[in-house]
Amino acid sequence: MENLHVEKFRIIKEVWGFTSFRQGQEDVIDRVMEKKDSLVIMPTGGGKSLCYQLPALMMNGMTIVISPLIALMNDQVAALKAAGVQVAALHSNMTKSEQSDVDSRLQARLIKMLYVSPERINSNGFTDYLARFEISLIAIDEAHCVSVWGNDFRPDYVLLNKIRDRFIHVPFIALTATADAATQQDICKQLHLHNPEIFISSFERKNITTESRPAEQKYRQTIDFLQKTSNQCGIIYCLSRNETEKLSAKLSEAGFNCAYYHAGMSAEARTKIQKDFQEDKLRFICATIAFGMGIDKSNIRWIIHYAMPKNLEGYYQEIGRAGRDGRPARALLFYSWADYIMLKKFIDDSQASEEFRTVQYPKLDRIWEYASANECRTNVVLNYFGEYRNKPCGHCDNCINPPKSKDATVIAQKALSAIIRCNENVGINTLIDVLRGSYRAEIKEAGLDRIKTFGAGKDISYINWKIYITQLINKGLIRIDYTDGFKLKTTPLTKSVLFEGTQVQLVDIATSDLEIEKPKPQKKKQKLHEGLMLKLREWRTELATQQQVPAYVIFSDQVFENIVAAKPLIKADLLNVEGIGKVKYEK
Ligand code: ADP
Ligand code: ZN
Repeated sequence: MENLHVEKFRIIKEVWGFTSFRQGQEDVIDRVMEKKDSLVIMPTGGGKSLCYQLPALMMNGMTIVISPLIALMNDQVAALKAAGVQVAALHSNMTKSEQSDVDSRLQARLIKMLYVSPERINSNGFTDYLARFEISLIAIDEAHCVSVWGNDFRPDYVLLNKIRDRFIHVPFIALTATADAATQQDICKQLHLHNPEIFISSFERKNITTESRPAEQKYRQTIDFLQKTSNQCGIIYCLSRNETEKLSAKLSEAGFNCAYYHAGMSAEARTKIQKDFQEDKLRFICATIAFGMGIDKSNIRWIIHYAMPKNLEGYYQEIGRAGRDGRPARALLFYSWADYIMLKKFIDDSQASEEFRTVQYPKLDRIWEYASANECRTNVVLNYFGEYRNKPCGHCDNCINPPKSKDATVIAQKALSAIIRCNENVGINTLIDVLRGSYRAEIKEAGLDRIKTFGAGKDISYINWKIYITQLINKGLIRIDYTDGFKLKTTPLTKSVLFEGTQVQLVDIATSDLEIEKPKPQKKKQKLHEGLMLKLREWRTELATQQQVPAYVIFSDQVFENIVAAKPLIKADLLNVEGIGKVKYEK
């Protein structure tokens, strides 16, 4: 045991250049080294790969890694190769000669880790072929695909229990970033795992600062955000293909280095954009949710949701693409009733089964509650995923800048009384115009400029009215009638505020950039730091292009930060930099 312990730390340092384990990794690795089965539930970026890659290097024989996404597989293989690991892949996108090359390396026992697609594992005679080698460990990535309860069921995965039964004495490790309790049990059952221990890491992404803002002026706010984050990479998620194109054109014109991406583009165009993004040639992508699967770029520093996503699963998966290197990252969500209404219409109009739609409506309500929440957002998400807790996270906007509530009874009364005086016959925008005393033609025609509350809310800006009315809707004091042109109506609670003296508390919500406290280095130092980072990134882009690998395969941003902090003077100093293993050091 003592030796194993020393060996673990020696190898993690030598190959990856890391000096410690992330939360949860070591327990899993110890279990695998005892040759017992495990199921690992860890969030994206949590460091799942090391849980099988490190044991693979410590055990005799060869580890098989089964992974459903070829792009992801290729990236992992490239990253391991760059670290000096003897690794190969077998999948359908390879030429005959590439495959026979792998075969000869296998015959010569020159491969320590073999990445294989599930189709290949299930193909005729392949397990017999594998049985000729000494297999130390079998790892199944994206294990939720084996369960119909999971969110990406693949029939090919179910057959994987055959390989489990064939290699009865080989330890198995199944890994995924998404599986609720039912799915976890089903994975163990479907894969025939032997008395598996289930390791569940917290899904909290402590390095991601989450923010949510009303969508008014989202374009201006986006520009502001992009300027403040200088040259950091990110993704802007849009609701429609059309919006990705329009936004990308507008932002390009404004001088930003970006492109758009959606499923309606040709496969070549999509591959090119992905590649340019991975190699840091594009700073950000305006994309639909089609973008992201299979992207393994560790230095994505921010995600903007330009409109509200349709559920919290999607949202959390999308923001999880930021900060995979563990460094600070930001997620900014813009939300509006217009998004809500559109998403609701998508569900109404979808051809899906009644059963599916019944599940989608409450999911949409949950993300709306998240977006408009006034308390810790991380708790809202974690509770949604069943990781119950109620202590403030410290890295969401509501924790960093707690919204202050105030007595807004008069504000509420003005809005409610205006709704009644407009005969419950207007939508949110017209109501605000009435409150603010606008002489728009439509308002004059309807005679709304003659009602008593006309102009009663002049002193409050349009945006703030929208924020307040949204809160009044959330409090159940106003209702949106979806069956009547989204007009605002009173509810049974309305009269208590108008006539029975019930007080209303509302909060003021920030509509400008969140001031995130950063350690403030002196200006000169900061400039030097940025200059050095830029130089290192340029060097990385050049090398990545030459070697045709994604930029992060060379080094992650975190390693660059470490280098800049250490300011090595002689080559040997590099060996003490976190994230530089032996092979990369020598290269
Ligand atoms: P996952 O597969 O869970 O999404 P990865 O295995 O890709 O996550 O790891 C995410 C990032 O964390 C990678 O950049 C990886 O190099 C880094 N990482 C993993 N383990 C450690 C560690 N012990 N110390 C430092 N960085 C780590
Ligand atoms: Zn919080």
